[in-house]
Order: sequence, then structure tokens, then C-alpha cells
Amino acid sequence: MAAPKVAVVGAGVVGLSTALCVAETCPSCSVTVLSDQFSPNTTSDVAAGMLIPHTYPGTPIHVQKQWFKETFTYLFAISNSAEASEAGIHLVSGWQVFKNTPKEELPFWSDIVLGFRPMSKAELQKFPHHQFGQAFTTLKCDCPPYLLWLEKRLKAIGVQMYTRKVADLWELNSEYNVVVNCAGIGAHQLVGDEKLFPVRGQVLKVHAPWVKNFIRDGDGLTYIYPGIHSVTLGGTREKESWSLSPDPGTTKDIFDRCCSLEPSLRGAQDIKVKVGLRPSRQCVRLQREVLSQGGVKLPVVHNYGHGAGGFSVHRGTAKEAAHLVGECIAALQGSSSRAKL
Ligand code: FAD
Repeated sequence: MAAPKVAVVGAGVVGLSTALCVAETCPSCSVTVLSDQFSPNTTSDVAAGMLIPHTYPGTPIHVQKQWFKETFTYLFAISNSAEASEAGIHLVSGWQVFKNTPKEELPFWSDIVLGFRPMSKAELQKFPHHQFGQAFTTLKCDCPPYLLWLEKRLKAIGVQMYTRKVADLWELNSEYNVVVNCAGIGAHQLVGDEKLFPVRGQVLKVHAPWVKNFIRDGDGLTYIYPGIHSVTLGGTREKESWSLSPDPGTTKDIFDRCCSLEPSLRGAQDIKVKVGLRPSRQCVRLQREVLSQGGVKLPVVHNYGHGAGGFSVHRGTAKEAAHLVGECIAALQGSSSRAKL
């Protein structure tokens, strides 16, 4: 069999990192990324990019933990290299604070982030409306720079990238041997997945360089995440809303909630509003499927539905998707050598 041709549909953090893992694990493959949008116009560009996992109720915790660990280890190495600034990856310390002590005082990811510990009474004095908190250091991706860094790495190893809207995965059958579906919320239409739904998120990106620590309310709704170039203030979680228009009332509400956690934000400048649709599902769809028409087959690997936690687990799920692509190629090579006998 000639060099297997692999198409990855989607150029958000999941598509780009999956294309990279496929190219790394199968150097003989010819990998192409096809996407109707690239950075800065993807959901991944809107994200805060914090490595604090979201929990997928339909995926075993040990699997989610493995995805997070692989992603943390990968990005930690980048943060500790000369590439860190260009890739937009940095360590950030801060606090997750709770109005009431949570049932689970130790989240499953507490031994992967650095220095996880309960907050001291003195630290909690900063948050008079909260009675419990956790302090730790994690990683943050500045999302557009990270996506551009991934694109640059892909180009450097010969991966082709084309702007193209794919109406049906089957249309790629004559050009590619394996297709990887990383279409995010676009998979709702692309493969008609009714289990996939949007959770709208509105955030503000502000200039407030004096804010150095992250602060996250334990309910996950209000957060302050300092990045290299701006501070992300959040947020909202609006299930089944497809609207990409910013809502001015929500902007004021987010700003007020964040100022009540960090009053110095009243002096923030240059407020930009962004909206994105989290591609949400009970579990990430990470599986092989074989499409078939008139006796012709097209192996597909799905890797979408990362909801509120795509950055936190992207490298782990990309590695697993690349492994599934390897299985598809082995199956194709097996059938082509059987056909020659
Ligand atoms: P996307 O970034 O949406 O990429 C999908 C790609 O597929 C796009 O390039 C699109 O153009 C392409 N596409 C779709 N349909 C087609 C088609 N038919 N043909 C061709 N191309 C197609 N996660 C974290 O881990 N930490 C955070 O702090 C965090 N903060 C967030 C804050 C907000 C406000 C939001 C909205 C999300 C946040 N997330 C966070 C979640 C994270 O953004 C997502 O999980 C992640 O971006 C999903 O990546 P993706 O590549 O699957 O999707």
C-alpha cells in the first residue's frame, strides 16, 4: 500500500493536535487538515485555555485522568522550553474558592497539578464570601498563539492545510484512506450527532497586567484567568444556545461578578467580548467507525465533544485518536496484502 492518506477535519485545538499526533506516530502517512475555519475564528480561540479539567459523566475517571496527565506533561515540557513564549504556554498559580465546603475535597486531578493544598485561613481572608478554598499551580494556554504554534509545527513536518467545508465525510472517500472527525460543535450537522449540544460561553478579555493569580469560584461560573497578553474574565454556561452574539447585559454581569472576587479589576482597560459554543456531550466521542457505500469502505476516527475541557485533555485524546488511526491503517494494509495473495 502507498503512503496512507489521512484527512483531519477541523482546525481547533483538537484537530491540530490530532493531526500532529498522527504525523508523529505515522511518519509514512500523508496528513492533511481540512477546515472551514482556522485560528482566530474557532471556538478554541475563545477559550481561556486553563488546565483545570471538566468532568465527563460518561467517561471513566481513570481515562479522564490519563488524558489530563498526558496533556499536562506535554504542556509542562513546552512551558519549560525556549518555545514557551511563542507557544503561549505558562504556569499560573491561584485559588479555587467555595462558598460551602465541597463534598469532594480532593478532585481527581489534584495530584497532577502542582502543589495542590487547602488554602490557609490567612489566604481565605482575601475572599470574605467564601469559606473553603484550594491553592495550586497549573498551566494555561494563550489560545490563539498556541493554535498558531501547532499550525507552524504541522507545516514544518509537511502537513498540508486547506480551507474547505466538508458537507459529508463520505465526500473524502476518493481522496483519502482514513478520515478523522475533529469538527467540534460542527459534528452536530456533519455526522448528525443528536447527543452533541452547544453550551454557549461568553467571556471578556481585558488588560489588567497587575492580576497575576487565577481565581475560580468553585461553581465554575465566575473566573479570572491571567494570560500572557490579557486576563480572561468569565463566564456563562448556556445549554442549547446557538447564539454567537455577545449580550451586553451578560458582559456587565460577568464584569461585576469578577470584580466582587478581585476588586482591582474595576481598573481594567480595553475590554473585548468573545462568545464560543462548547461542543458538549456526556462523553468525548473517541471511536472508530467504518462508513460503507456500494461495497466501498471508508474508515473514520471520531474525536469530538470535548465540552468545557478541550484544552485540558487535548493531547491525551489526540494520542488516543492517533492510535485508532494506526489501527485503521493496519487493517487497510492487512486487507490490501490479502487482496494481493
Ligand atoms: P473547535 O475549536 O470548535 O474546532 C472545530 C473545527 O472544526 C473548526 O476549525 C471548525 O471550522 C471545523 N469544522 C466544523 N465543522 C466543519 C465542517 N463541516 N467542515 C470543515 N471544518 C469544520 N477548555 C479548557 O480546557 N479550559 C478552559 O479554560 C476553557 N475555557 C473555555 C471558555 C469558553 C468561553 C469556551 C466557549 C470554551 C472553553 N473551553 C475550555 C472549551 C474548549 O474551548 C473546547 O473544548 C475546545 O476548544 C474544543 O476544541 P475543538 O477543536 O473540538 O473545537
